[in-house]
Amino acid sequence: MSIVYGPVPSWRLGRSLGIDLLPGRGKTCCFDCVYCQLRVTTNATVERAEFVKLDDLARELAAVKGVPADHVTFSGTGEPTLAANLGRAIDVVRQELVLPVAVLTNSALMTREDVREDLARADVVVAKLDAPDERLFRLINRPVVDLSLREVVDGIRRFRSQWSGRLALQMMFLNANKRAAEEMAALAASLSPDEVQINTPLRPCAVAPLSAKEIVAIRESFAGLNVHTAYEAKRPDVEPIDARETLRRRPRCTRPRHQE
Ligand code: SF4
Repeated sequence: MSIVYGPVPSWRLGRSLGIDLLPGRGKTCCFDCVYCQLRVTTNATVERAEFVKLDDLARELAAVKGVPADHVTFSGTGEPTLAANLGRAIDVVRQELVLPVAVLTNSALMTREDVREDLARADVVVAKLDAPDERLFRLINRPVVDLSLREVVDGIRRFRSQWSGRLALQMMFLNANKRAAEEMAALAASLSPDEVQINTPLRPCAVAPLSAKEIVAIRESFAGLNVHTAYEAKRPDVEPIDARETLRRRPRCTRPRHQE
């Protein structure tokens, strides 16, 4: 299988059956985040295109009917909203499987109406937001196209105002932004998410994670919001259908098992 992978254990989505609409050998994205587990961005673009055929997706989904899962999640080897057929792919999932659909996005293209329309077909949208200002945005997310944090935030805000589904903000905290928790919390509150996921890089990457104690301190800044943190979350046991293809997209956590 080249499009469907997992299930992977997700701390907020349970047993998550992954869909990769950008399944080349590199990474297709408009960011090159310092903590990205997929390493360097090899296909830097902001142009939407069709990377897989929906017939192929339907065939792979038919083969995994009956695999225990809690969500079908669009993620994979890059930014899923770069797939121009994302909305139709969500429809194909709904035809083949009776599972809620989630999309993990870096939020970069949410200013586009066609992207917001595609995302609105999902049940859960997890939108990345790692910085409260342009300097940290450039330092952490390293956009590889001409894009400002102001545009990213505007896109999330517009989407929230139009869509009443479950919107989660995922905020990655590292040394670079750990002192900006108050500003991040204020920004999060202004976007009215259903939940905030406070994360730190626990998978193999170039950046060290913050400690559980540091994450607890950051969490205190988010009082009043529905917050979940990576250290507190429990992950289910899962058996991937293809371990090699799953590991390529989703390396294992490095923290001790009892903390997962
Ligand atoms: S947005 Fe996601 S896929 Fe793209 S570089 Fe950042 S972490 Fe990697």
